[in-house]
This record gives sequence, C-alpha cells and structure tokens, in this order.
Amino acid sequence: MTTLQAPPTARPVPKSATYEIGRRVAAMRAAGKTVLDLATGEPSFATPTRIVEAAEQALRDGYTRYTPSAGLPEARAAAAEALTRDHGVDVPSSRVYVVPSAKYGVYASLAAILEPGDEVVVVGPHWVSYEPMITLLSATVRRVLPDAATGYRFDSTELLAVMSDRTRAIVLNTPGNPTGRVLDEGEITAVAEACRRSSCWVVSDEIYAQIRFDGVQHRAPAAHQELADRTFTIGGLSKSHAMPGWRIGYIAAPESAQEALDGFIQNSVGCAPAFVQRASIVALSDSGVQDEIGAMVHEYGRRRDELCSALDTVPGFQPSVPEGALYVWADVSATGLSGTKVAESLLDVAGIAVVPGEAFGPEYADHIRLTYAPSAAVVSAACRALAVWTPR
Ligand code: PMP
Repeated sequence: MTTLQAPPTARPVPKSATYEIGRRVAAMRAAGKTVLDLATGEPSFATPTRIVEAAEQALRDGYTRYTPSAGLPEARAAAAEALTRDHGVDVPSSRVYVVPSAKYGVYASLAAILEPGDEVVVVGPHWVSYEPMITLLSATVRRVLPDAATGYRFDSTELLAVMSDRTRAIVLNTPGNPTGRVLDEGEITAVAEACRRSSCWVVSDEIYAQIRFDGVQHRAPAAHQELADRTFTIGGLSKSHAMPGWRIGYIAAPESAQEALDGFIQNSVGCAPAFVQRASIVALSDSGVQDEIGAMVHEYGRRRDELCSALDTVPGFQPSVPEGALYVWADVSATGLSGTKVAESLLDVAGIAVVPGEAFGPEYADHIRLTYAPSAAVVSAACRALAVWTPR
C-alpha cells in the first residue's frame, strides 16, 4: 500500500505590508492594548446616507443577479460622466468597466497587457501592491527613483534610462501613495515622450483623484492627447466616498486592450456586485454626495495640517506636506534610526502604528508613512503622543 503524499508546496506570494500591520494592530487590540492606527489608510467617515439608501433600494428592486461583465450600462455611464466632469478624461461609457475595487482594476489592467518576461516601470516610492501584482504576472519591475530633493519629480531621461524593448507599461499613481504628490504637467509630458520612443501602455491609478488640498489641480494622463489611446485610468470609491468595504471601482480602458480586458474580467471575477454598482451611480452623480465629499476632503486637509505640525516638532523627523491622498511621508534619517526601528518604537512606546518606508521600496528604509484618514480624535491623540515620544 502506498502512503498518501503530502500536498505540494504553494508558490511564494508576497504579503501586503499594510495588511500585515493591520493584523498586528488587531492582535494588539484583542490583547487589550490601545493602538492609534495611523497605518491603515481607511476613511473614518461613514458612507454617505444617500449611497447606503441606493444600495438598500437596489437590493429590494432585485439587483441581486449577475450583471454584464463590464458592468451595468447605467453604472458605466455614470463613471464615464464623472471622469469627464471631474478630470477631463473624455471617454465613452463603452470603454468603462465597473469592477470590484480599484485594486482589482489595477491588477486586471496589468493582467490584460503583461506576458511573462515583460518589464514594467514603477516610480518610487510607490504603493505596496504594484510590485507583487507585477511579479504574480511573471513580469519584472524596473524602478525609477526620483530624487527626494526635487520632491520625487521625474523626467523623461529617468524614465528612458530604465526602459528597454521589453518595457510594456509605466505605472503611475496621482495623487500618490505614500508621498501625496500630484503629477505635474512636465511629468505627464515626460511620460508621453518616453511612450513616443517605445510602444508601451500607461496604467494610471487615480484612486485619490478627488482628495487634493490647497487648490492643487489633478492631471489625468489619459487627458493628454498623446496618451489617450494607451492609458488605463483606474478610479475607485473606497477613499473619496468612504466606501472601502463596498469593493467598487472602475477602469477606463484603451480600446485596443478591451478584448483582453473583457476576457480577464469574465474569467476571473465575472462582474462587480449588482446592487453596489447601482449605489455607485448615486455616489458618482448625486450633487448632495459631491458636497459631502467636499466636506470630507476639507476635514482631511485640517487633519493633514495638524499631523504635519506635530511631526515637525519631533526631533529628527522631516515630514513633507502632501498635496493630496491621505498620507504624510516623513524622512526620519536624522533620528539615527531606520524607519522600521522608528515604527517599532512608535508602536511600543507611543501606541501609534505607522508603516515603515521600506514597504514602499527598499530604498526608503529611512522613511515612515502616517495616515490622517482616521478620526479627528485619533489623529489628535496621536499628535499628543508624538509630542512626548522619545525613541526607545
Ligand atoms: N491604489 C492605491 C494607490 C491605494 O492606496 C489603494 C488603497 N490603499 C488602492 C489602490 C486600493 O483601493 P480599493 O479599495 O479600491 O481596492
């Protein structure tokens, strides 16, 4: 008789650094500790009531079935209109896909275009999930590392230096996580210039497009004439609309990638939840909701200022004031400690959870990221704790 073999080993899949910190925070809380979580970029606000009501109504109206894979026509139209109205991306609804989350939107866009061995340009410091997504698709990351002294602004020479005939895509994120930077016109022109010399796609993650401060303008790469036919614009409602648990987002896709994207979405998820798609129409079109978003962004701006002022007074910390998104990126090299050590000490001594910089690229071990998405009370309590914290 032969004995049953043990199952084979699973493939190595990198964990998400931010989810892992979230797990640690949850374990500490379960053990009775108080933690001020400035690691998880999750809006403190409740989803606007009108959106919740629209979802309830949709459930009662029978939106409990599969929808077309690209989404309900009326939800696609609402996303297309919002992209044109808010960000100058002129896109017909036939090119818009309503998908379960921006994260899935980024992954589906990459999956539609990448083949094993392809190379993808990402600009550091960058969101934690881009590299795992690219490597899961058997492609390779080529990192552009703009200088912190220029506010991480990049040019076409830097892009072209890491590009080859295997480069298939450039991933952009504006406003950016973790820096809060908004791409300027020069950078978008630099991307167009790099694309002029190579046949490559642009995957533009714009989940924070509506969260900007001080009148800074959002520039969507797809609104640039030369990039319109090669850019995937990804948006989502998790942050701007305080809907992280609803899992809803959208992609405005280039026409020439639609066949591939259709196939990937059909075979990987099918469609986004029908009643959430219905609620997204209200989220994107209702003027009262747009006013509530304005109020939330205003409050994030106030929390940003409070957190930056508190960080400014911590010896050895150099925070940069974000133009958008939900994060402060702080250089902590002058403490003489690594970002990881600072993060550990902040958690142990002050009860504040933050994300060490190396989660955003190995070159950023002397930084930390903090979010002002939590409630005003949590942000204020963290600011008070920072004022008396000394590393241990
Ligand atoms: N892109 C970036 C840059 C993000 O920071 C996040 C969330 N942390 C996402 C995408 C994912 O958003 P969603 O909840 O829609 O998946």
